Amino acid sequence: MSTKFETGASIAVIGAGIVGVASAFDLARRGYAVTVFDPAPPGQGGPSWRNAGQIGASDLQPLSTPGIALTGLRMMLRKDSPLSIPGLEKLRLMPWFWRFLATSRGENYRNACSAMKTLARHAFEDMSDMLSEAGILGKMRRSGAGFIYDSAQSFAASQPTWAMKAKAGFAAYPMNRQDIAARLPEMDTAFTHGMLSENWGDVSDPLEIVQDLAKELRRRGVAFRENTVTGLTPAEKGVSVTTPAGIEVFDGAVVAAGIASRQFAKALGEKLPLVAERGYNLTFPNPGFKLELPLILPDRGIAITQLGEGLRIGGWAEYAANPGRPENKSYYRALSRISSEIFPGLNQSGAIAWMGNRPSLPDSIPVISRSLRSTRVFYNCGHGHYGLSNSATSARILGTLIAGAEQPPAHRAFTLRRFN
Ligand SMILES: Cc1cc2nc3c(=O)[nH]c(=O)nc-3n(C[C@H](O)[C@H](O)[C@H](O)COP(=O)(O)OP(=O)(O)OC[C@H]3O[C@@H](n4cnc5c(N)ncnc54)[C@H](O)[C@@H]3O)c2cc1C
Repeated sequence: MSTKFETGASIAVIGAGIVGVASAFDLARRGYAVTVFDPAPPGQGGPSWRNAGQIGASDLQPLSTPGIALTGLRMMLRKDSPLSIPGLEKLRLMPWFWRFLATSRGENYRNACSAMKTLARHAFEDMSDMLSEAGILGKMRRSGAGFIYDSAQSFAASQPTWAMKAKAGFAAYPMNRQDIAARLPEMDTAFTHGMLSENWGDVSDPLEIVQDLAKELRRRGVAFRENTVTGLTPAEKGVSVTTPAGIEVFDGAVVAAGIASRQFAKALGEKLPLVAERGYNLTFPNPGFKLELPLILPDRGIAITQLGEGLRIGGWAEYAANPGRPENKSYYRALSRISSEIFPGLNQSGAIAWMGNRPSLPDSIPVISRSLRSTRVFYNCGHGHYGLSNSATSARILGTLIAGAEQPPAHRAFTLRRFN
């Protein structure tokens, strides 16, 4: 069976979220004949739609850090906790959390940090290449981001992490009361401690980026089929892709179906422990001011971005074994209250409420890998909190895999083998 795909080979991409579309973009520019499948219009089938639109490229730690068990428990006990695991989900998610906790220790932790670094180092460069080739580079800013703390204590507690980032070449500078007041005059004056992280930025609107990339792909001859893929069957000479419209055979296929990727892996007989890590946000179309910088409030698990659609405030992590679980509407009320605490002058009229399923793996590292069962099937999924940020880099890594290029040892961290 061939393991290297020659130029002109036909490749199906399952999923037209940011990761599927970026993957299609890389494959199309390598000269493959690409067809993208998704029942939803590009960007609208999952969290690629209304995420925070930040290009976060200085976070070098997985979510599971040393001491996370205690920190997580403390967080869950707090009012407006940024972390929740509803009711019986706790039992169903136990094996996943076991793996999550294992990430916080020893070699697992070091490997996850080093994989995060590999992605973070290239995120802006790869994103710039992709957007500039699509003629939309102007829709991304590398503005840096303000990490604003609730207290001097939490600011002090964060300093070892910032020192670790600085050592790895990701610069950041303290922001005091005056800096915050000067750059973020809309914020409540109670916020007096922050860090300005350089390797961060945002896009004009995350949905618009997917739509623009898809438009450019169509112009380049990439086909988009608005269909659900119900079966993926690899054989020696090709991969059959089944949809309600029939069966098409391709030389290869990429699973980039966000949280639904786990179903494809299951059908192929391989383990892909994805869970839905649900995030909530509110978008205020006329906030009454324009925020100069994207913000992160680490103590509250909240990201804030000025986007084309308005000022978006949200985040949080509600874990669910069942991604179809109804949204928790009380979170929107809490977010509305918190938004006014942060920005006392915020105009909340016409707020758009949204919830999205982050496709999350227990070690916070995406799977960018060939299937272990078929040399014709590949995965690019499990991007958790950073699917937009790492879309172009993961697409490039995937493209080199499909083209059969030699992989640097650092790319082994993304293999599906680690779960099988
Ligand atoms: C509140 C929130 C804020 C976030 N903020 C940021 C941020 O600022 N920066 C950042 O980098 N990331 C952010 N993220 C994470 C980011 O949104 C995700 O990592 C990213 O969107 C995942 O993209 P994806 O293409 O893998 O998945 P998705 O967006 O879920 O796309 C998968 C697609 O596959 C399709 N699909 C599913 N099943 C099938 C099937 N059987 N056949 C065909 N198609 C199928 C779906 O319809 C969907 O369109 C945030 C997430 C949330 C929830």
